[in-house]
Amino acid sequence: MALCCRQLAAHGLIAGRDGNLSVRLGADRVLVTPSGFIKSLVTAADMVEVDLAGKPRRKSARKPTSELDLHLRILRHRPDVQAVVHAHPPAATGFAVAGQEIPGNLLPELIFVVGPVPLVPFGMPGTPELGDRVVPYLVGKHHRALLLANHGAVTMGKTLDEAWIRMESLEHSARIITAARAVGEPKPLTAQAVERLQWERDG
Ligand SMILES: [Zn+2]
Repeated sequence: MALCCRQLAAHGLIAGRDGNLSVRLGADRVLVTPSGFIKSLVTAADMVEVDLAGKPRRKSARKPTSELDLHLRILRHRPDVQAVVHAHPPAATGFAVAGQEIPGNLLPELIFVVGPVPLVPFGMPGTPELGDRVVPYLVGKHHRALLLANHGAVTMGKTLDEAWIRMESLEHSARIITAARAVGEPKPLTAQAVERLQWERDG
């Protein structure tokens, strides 16, 4: 988790104290990043263990991330998810600030690694409003990533690596699509190619 924080910062996917992670350790045990830390300086010992209701499970001098509610809502509604990464990747968040979804028919990597990425309406960061906005995108759905309007992105995975790779892939795709638009008009993949990639991803 500490390595992931440092990498997210080194790759410019977060700035300063931005971003937070959670990893499910057991049925009612979750490890989360601490609140208020500069993420490139955070260490393994700084992580905070809570239960799925957000109660601390171990005595710690650290407070859990200010986005604890967001993480716990995802982990409670999606038993298949073991890890959640929240970051502010600049190109992907650019789409979220412009009120646009990232087109899902342009890049094989985006379809295969991440899948569809809905744009969740704005909810105030660090408050239950954000979780309220996100829940409709969790119930009965299997999204691996969400864009948060005027805020950032969330990725999910069966492991922290999977969630982390999805965040990198989401940002990389957003950068490529933005570059393509600067050059000309992006040419979509054929419907057959999109279907085949979806089939390979889900099959
Ligand atoms: Zn945020």
